[in-house]
Amino acid sequence: MTDEIVTRFAPSPTGRLHLGHAYSALFAAAAARDGGGRFLLRIEDIDASRAKPEFERTILEDLAWLGLEWETPVRRQSEHMADYERAAGCLKALGVVYPCFCTRAEIRAEVERSAGAPHGPDGPLYPGTCKRLDDGERNARVDAGETFALRLDSDRAARIAGPISWTDVEAGERPADAASHGDVVVARKDVPTSYHLAVTVDDALQGVTLVTRGLDLMPATHVHRLLRALLDLPEPRYRHHRLITDGAGRRLATRNDATALRTLRERGAAPGDIRKMVGLGAA
Ligand code: GLU
Repeated sequence: MTDEIVTRFAPSPTGRLHLGHAYSALFAAAAARDGGGRFLLRIEDIDASRAKPEFERTILEDLAWLGLEWETPVRRQSEHMADYERAAGCLKALGVVYPCFCTRAEIRAEVERSAGAPHGPDGPLYPGTCKRLDDGERNARVDAGETFALRLDSDRAARIAGPISWTDVEAGERPADAASHGDVVVARKDVPTSYHLAVTVDDALQGVTLVTRGLDLMPATHVHRLLRALLDLPEPRYRHHRLITDGAGRRLATRNDATALRTLRERGAAPGDIRKMVGLGAA
């Protein structure tokens, strides 16, 4: 079997693309091109309240304007809920998920109450309230029709998966430490998946062999590696790229119009200028 390089850019259509997205897309496309591989595009639109078709349209236009070409069809996550439900079903069958009825406010209150609440790379971890429910109460609440998310029982999942690692093209092999991310949500209350589950399933189904994304998402890679092990999915390699920041060193926000590709383009920037602005030089 050949080790074909397949990369992807996976934006969420919840706003306009900015320079950080441009860099990420150009990085993924170059990794595929340099390796004689394939470049895919995926629209991550599971959040129906924030994802908008007009943002998707602008994203496709901006990427084409940048000179990128991707394979069609473009995978749109909202059209593949059955795939995620199947994967969540496998996790259920393994006994590594549990229903969580908590609201965000309840989780916040619980974290504030317990002085030693565990923290992970992205802040406080889920304090485990619903993990401690006994089966009787859990079933009664499900039967009563209470809405719930599904959370990964990360300790149990890590025990089942055993010692696992993932390969970062730059940093080499790294032990997967998913337990330190706590019991992440794998299916939300409103949709039968979450960012973590959808990305894991899609990257595998699309045959992505090299996952490229910003360093800010490196913590998530540990979780995705664990999910892959549990779901028996093939392992890709990973490359985490630097983040584009503003003059003050802050990460770019979608709300900041000054760095939106559309604004820069309207002000006369050419695709080559965008490449220079993100440190890639004119190609
Ligand atoms: N959709 C994610 C984002 O826009 C990126 C997904 C990924 O690369 O894992 O931040």
